[in-house]
Amino acid sequence: MSDDILDRAMGGDEIAISKVLTNIEYDTKNGLEYLSVLSKFSGKAHTIGITGIPGAGKSTLISALIENYVKAGHKVGVIMIDPSSPISMGSFMGNRIRMQEKSLMNNVFIRSIASRGHLGGFTSEAIMLTEALDGLGYDRIILETVGAGQTDTDVMSASHTLAVLVIPGAGDEIQAFKAGIMEIGDVYVINKADKPEAEAVYDAVKFAVESGEVYYRDEWKPRIIKVSALKKTGIQELVDIFEEHAEFLRTRNLFYEKVRKRRIKMIELLLRKRFNNIISKVVEKNQNVMDEMISKGKTDELIANLYDLVKQQL
Ligand code: GDP
Repeated sequence: MSDDILDRAMGGDEIAISKVLTNIEYDTKNGLEYLSVLSKFSGKAHTIGITGIPGAGKSTLISALIENYVKAGHKVGVIMIDPSSPISMGSFMGNRIRMQEKSLMNNVFIRSIASRGHLGGFTSEAIMLTEALDGLGYDRIILETVGAGQTDTDVMSASHTLAVLVIPGAGDEIQAFKAGIMEIGDVYVINKADKPEAEAVYDAVKFAVESGEVYYRDEWKPRIIKVSALKKTGIQELVDIFEEHAEFLRTRNLFYEKVRKRRIKMIELLLRKRFNNIISKVVEKNQNVMDEMISKGKTDELIANLYDLVKQQL
């Protein structure tokens, strides 16, 4: 490929990296070519999903993790999913500014992407960016989401390790836990442990884990840890747990297996997106016919006709 942007990106040029990622995110022709090349080099990064309700301290924790990783000589990629709700927009902007200070540091690349309407939807774009950052040599990749149910499931398929943030003072946290939304963590991080109320949350989560109420992914017994992202306590211990989990996966040949699944998911989501675009266009163009045939009681015939139209576009 006669494109030196990719070469420059692979050489660490930040502006080139940014261009490459933008092309990939928007699924341009160049973007797909970049992704194809980068996939040859990817598969080494440890990917860590971080989820929790707005205000749980995700950005604060990620800042602390970045510092820790960079000091240890790692290159860190961070992908943040924009919450689509306008209510959380204010705090999100605040987070973003804090994160941008960090992005000035060498060896850190932070990218936030829009979740495109579906609440917290972890889209194909996010998985593509993970794949790209991995191929560009970022060896620790953090994926941050707002913690909606579907998002968590999708983050799971894209990350090796999933950390669920739980905080004191939000009574519904434990409710969420019981409702099954938060059952999927490899690590439960009780944040804001500088507050005395954190103790009760810790006990409740510990009880849930020990009584088997949570899911044991890959036979890994989920860990529970108290941290204060703000006061930076427990961060090294948390990183140690992440490393231990990565090692656990490696010794069971699951580390690469998860990369493989992430890639399959990426391709599947890309195909779905393309098919969806075709379907949307066909629906858009045939509104009048649809109204007419439905009112004449010919829904079955309508579906068959539209299906043919979609097939013609393939
Ligand atoms: P996010 O919405 O999950 O990204 O949460 P933020 O990182 O923006 O944090 C939300 C609020 O909680 C901010 O005011 C933080 O300063 C505060 N916060 C984060 N971590 C801690 C902590 O460990 N202890 C205390 N007391 N406050 C924290």
